[in-house]
Amino acid sequence: MESGQSAASAEESALDQPRSVLLPGHDVPLGRYSVVRRLLPQRDLRMVGAWCFVDHFGPDDVHDRPGMQVAPHPHTGLQTVTWLLDGQIRHRDSVGSDQLIRPGQLNVMTSGHGIAHSEQSPQPYPPLMHGVQLWVALPRAYRDREPAFDHHPELPAWTDGPVTVRLLVGELGGLRSPAVVHSPLVGAQLEFAADGELLLAADPCFEYGILALSGAAQVADCRLVPGALLHLAPGAAQLRIRGAAGSRVLLLGGEPFDEPLVMWWNFVAGSHEEIVRAREDWMAGRRFGAVCNDPMDPLPAPAMPAVRLKARDRHGRGR
Ligand code: MN
Repeated sequence: MESGQSAASAEESALDQPRSVLLPGHDVPLGRYSVVRRLLPQRDLRMVGAWCFVDHFGPDDVHDRPGMQVAPHPHTGLQTVTWLLDGQIRHRDSVGSDQLIRPGQLNVMTSGHGIAHSEQSPQPYPPLMHGVQLWVALPRAYRDREPAFDHHPELPAWTDGPVTVRLLVGELGGLRSPAVVHSPLVGAQLEFAADGELLLAADPCFEYGILALSGAAQVADCRLVPGALLHLAPGAAQLRIRGAAGSRVLLLGGEPFDEPLVMWWNFVAGSHEEIVRAREDWMAGRRFGAVCNDPMDPLPAPAMPAVRLKARDRHGRGR
């Protein structure tokens, strides 16, 4: 139980924290064949803006493995953003999408009150798999909206010296992504053709998370390699990012998300009760619809934990 006083002192200690902190991710086995690096959520940093889940997978040689085989499963309260560097994924969902996802193209699935999808390697599939799976939490006002899926084959991009910037989400460098999001948010990939530096105008109201997808980068005095997330607190007016030749860096940012959330399995919600209802609806075949063109059996939801799920704020503090 938290008193008002302990909440206040936690707020003070948060202000004492350094403006930037390097957070190592942890390896999570996904199915029988692959391990992903989970950069968000972390114990003390659940989100960067509305970005609430960051899994970095690969590069993995999957030529002698089954590739990706994720059976139909549900989502609520979030958008999934799939971004590939290598490989292909066939996405199918319950709003009728059957879309091949390729490197450099952006795919945004908005669950609203409920959507189901599956992700499979197409046959045949390229030998390398490398990418990120990102979730964006929907603010309460959009959590019950209709589900949708949007494929963006063309994204705004520009080159500055040796660096090519591809804008996934939001606004940067005077350009705007066509992807629809529901809170102030940015996502971009920086690709370094040679050793170099990029200076970007930052939004002082945004916090940022920066990760190396390949190679190495340097931000302030922090060296970044794949497997860790650099968190920058709000207040920066510009970002100076150095990269080594061949490196690719993912920049995520947004206004700190101030609604406490419950994240459990594939659901994001505002309360334990909403999670229980979503799980019951999925298991009963209600609400989410059927994934089109996919004969695979849906994934059953795990059992609810014995304890009540707490809504947590972005620092992991329970409410
Ligand atoms: Mn999913």
